[in-house]
Amino acid sequence: MSAIPTAVEGQKVESVKLLIGGEFVESNTTEWRDIVNPATQEVLARVPFATKDEVDAAIRSAHAAFATWKNTPIGARMRIMLKYQALIREHMPRIAKTLTAEQGKTLPDAEGDIFRGLEVVEHACSIGTLQQGEFAENVAGSVDTYTLRQPLGVCAGITPFNFPAMIPLWMFPMAIVCGNTFVLKPSEQDPLSTMQLVELAIEAGVPKGVLNVVHGGKEVVDALCTHELVKAISFVGSTAVGTHVYNLGSQHGKRVQSMMGAKNHAVVLPDANREQTLNALVGAGFGAAGQRCMATSVVVLVGASKDWLPELVEKAKTLKINAGHEPKTDVGPVVSRAAKTRILGMIEAGVKEGAKLVLDGRSVKVSGYEDGNFVGPTVFSDVTVDMDVYKTEIFGPVLCVMTVPTLDDAIALVNGNPMGNGVGLFTQSGAAARKFQSEIDVGQVGINIPIPVPVPFFSFTGSRGSKLGDLGPYGKQVVQFYTQTKTVTARWFDDAAVADGVNTTISLK
Ligand code: NAD
Repeated sequence: MSAIPTAVEGQKVESVKLLIGGEFVESNTTEWRDIVNPATQEVLARVPFATKDEVDAAIRSAHAAFATWKNTPIGARMRIMLKYQALIREHMPRIAKTLTAEQGKTLPDAEGDIFRGLEVVEHACSIGTLQQGEFAENVAGSVDTYTLRQPLGVCAGITPFNFPAMIPLWMFPMAIVCGNTFVLKPSEQDPLSTMQLVELAIEAGVPKGVLNVVHGGKEVVDALCTHELVKAISFVGSTAVGTHVYNLGSQHGKRVQSMMGAKNHAVVLPDANREQTLNALVGAGFGAAGQRCMATSVVVLVGASKDWLPELVEKAKTLKINAGHEPKTDVGPVVSRAAKTRILGMIEAGVKEGAKLVLDGRSVKVSGYEDGNFVGPTVFSDVTVDMDVYKTEIFGPVLCVMTVPTLDDAIALVNGNPMGNGVGLFTQSGAAARKFQSEIDVGQVGINIPIPVPVPFFSFTGSRGSKLGDLGPYGKQVVQFYTQTKTVTARWFDDAAVADGVNTTISLK
């Protein structure tokens, strides 16, 4: 039987299963949460908050599987990923449909969500070269030193609601292909598309116990962060929770990476291509209803580009707001009623603290989807650094626009913000771009690129308040994260070698 509820096709509401020891099982919990279509409020399925015993069973199953999996030849691991990428590609339209139904983003954007994750799986197929160690011959007479990149054991992943395909795929494929076993805790708001991807991983040949899934919230996360058998934790989500996970996991001796909240600025110089820049700003500000960790949330107009504001607002007005599965939709609903209430509250606060509301998306109505959690594109101008709308991550379709006289002022503004996830510069000047990339203190820089999420042969490199832990997801860094280096220094005695007697020094002789 499929582990995926089929309510998306209008059938009976089912429960989402746990995956423990290779079996999709019903939870024994008494605590459940509805998964709700944000455009219609239809209940698609219900998700369990797993019990302590179920979390323990998932971790123990991963621990047991590690004994065999760590010694499975690298080519065999790689071939599972080759099959997995083909299956994801084949099932992308079906998964995208589920993702749109549970999360709200448009169908093309849902396919993009899956595709950016698929690219990580494709990269995992290169593990043969990614996981190689180093070798130095003759570091002393007949002595060689080499390194092994060995898997850690049980790793855990905790994911947010906004990319239910891409972010789980940042985590378990690379962890598993390195020889680890894994326990995934998807977002409790939209786990259905994640579970479809997990099903395909099992179909691709991931052995029993190598990949496990538990659902839930704080209690499940805390159990993963404190369990003695978990060696590493990969977290993506808000700054408050990510900091908690980092601290709790670290206190319990785990290696932790936390990718967290953001406030991404886009700096516009007057020499930038006007049409392309305005299109990029509107797309990056309002795409996915602003619910991307790399969404543009602050536009900094430098010098004469301050005159571009009316055109920015006009472009934002042209976006089509509708349910994500409707053709030609630009902006779908936000994920939940609670999210909508929070975003409306932030807009209200912005008005009260004196920002000028030049485009108000609060009262948008979508015909046929009157119950949907829609917020239309909203633009504030005259925003200052002391305002809450500037200081807080709104995570909705709200752009704050600020003006500064010079590029130096813009750089100082961005560097003064505590977050460091992404930043963009729009210009035709190579010299300005070079100065910007050198002086800006943000992990991911786009030059005429609004959402500079690196492709998987690089790593995701958010910095400062947006990240805890040294190593980012995917790319070469994550191979380091999911492995530990063992250094071997070896001498093989030649039978004919003449012994030099006892060596009581530290030197290799
Ligand atoms: P969230 O922090 O509320 O939830 C993330 C995960 O933590 C979920 O699995 C959730 O169940 C769990 N969780 C929630 N509250 C918890 C608690 N008190 N204790 C322990 N675990 C808890 O994040 P979200 O709302 O799902 O996602 C949006 C946030 O994620 C935004 O801040 C966004 O910027 C951030 N994000 C960051 C990146 C990045 O790469 N930096 C990528 C995507 C999203």
